[in-house]
Amino acid sequence: MDLFEHEARDLFARHGVPVPPGEVTDTPAGAYAAAVAIDGPVVVKAQVKTGGRGKAGGVKLAGTPAEARAAAEAILGMDIKGHTVHKVLVTAASEIADEYYFSFLLDRANRTFLAMASAEGGMDIEEVAATRPEALIRRPVRDMNLALAGDIAQAAGLPAASAEVIVKLWDVFVREDCTLVEVNPLVRTESGEIIALDGKVTLDDSAAFRHSGRPADSTAGDPLEQAARAKGLNYVKLTGDVGVIGNGAGLVMSTLDVVAQAGGAGPANFLDIGGGASAQVMADGLEIILGDPDVRSVFVNVFGGITACDAVADGIVRALDMLGPRATKPLVVRLDGNNVKRGRQILTEAGHPLVTMVETMDDAAGTAARLAARGA
Ligand code: ADP
Ligand code: MG
Repeated sequence: MDLFEHEARDLFARHGVPVPPGEVTDTPAGAYAAAVAIDGPVVVKAQVKTGGRGKAGGVKLAGTPAEARAAAEAILGMDIKGHTVHKVLVTAASEIADEYYFSFLLDRANRTFLAMASAEGGMDIEEVAATRPEALIRRPVRDMNLALAGDIAQAAGLPAASAEVIVKLWDVFVREDCTLVEVNPLVRTESGEIIALDGKVTLDDSAAFRHSGRPADSTAGDPLEQAARAKGLNYVKLTGDVGVIGNGAGLVMSTLDVVAQAGGAGPANFLDIGGGASAQVMADGLEIILGDPDVRSVFVNVFGGITACDAVADGIVRALDMLGPRATKPLVVRLDGNNVKRGRQILTEAGHPLVTMVETMDDAAGTAARLAARGA
């Protein structure tokens, strides 16, 4: 999960990385109040999870509280690379002497961590990396201490005083289980202080259990995706109108293909209910899909393996019972594999008015697409 700059800043502060004082707000009046509290020139910064905010007009210097309010007014609601700005960070403006780049990241390919540093930080680091890669040093690291941090700083042309900050950034990286800690710019101020003026942090979600107080990702996208995640389902929202449920990621992927090939608007989602498709899991899955207003028909595609078709059929019948009046859209069910006869028999006997059984995957996709078109 990526953090907002202000969240990264809070993490930095907790580990002793110097950051300018600041406050987050979602109103121009809040920006005015924050500037009054800071009592000096401020920088008003769009809080969106993408870089290049400065170039997009999302970072504005304000000399007075009234200017801060005007800057917030201009920035709030702005669209930056498809991200709407809901909040701004108002921070004390630093008198910058030099801007550097520094990051720690997980280098999966080489099974190590990497420190990257450059004396040419700031808004054009991508260009520096592309045109003069030698200006961006890369060092594999497994541990950190002041001497090593000093070496890296020297090699990259950062001031010696940045070594202490580098050690603290390593603390953030390791103790907070990050896969990326990036500071661009890390600055030296006119008075010689080293300060992190921007922060990009990616937390390793697989380590979330080690950090109980961590807030949930408020930007995890689609609300249905969030609901699915809460139920432990593998769900991705797509743009079509045929809901898709299957067991096993491979089967679901090929189901998306046949639904797309069947014509019409295509699949509305990816949903893998996994191997052990219990009635509860099937009900959870159907509930998520039926909750999507774009869905006009649902294609349930199951290949019975360890969980046999009769258990899955049972699951579908019980899921429809559980959902009752919330099940409103036609279901096309294709069962095959282990105990398929018994499975089909169960669905036939249940005779649910919304369920159509189809034998092959292609026919089922065609039926689902037709039903979706009819419901449109
Ligand atoms: P982004 O990387 O998304 O463009 P930054 O936070 O790096 O956003 O801001 C862009 C530029 O704005 C920085 O390189 C720096 O020159 C300037 N800047 C950002 N924060 C401050 C600050 N607190 N004081 C002074 N200048 C700042
Ligand atoms: Mg930056």
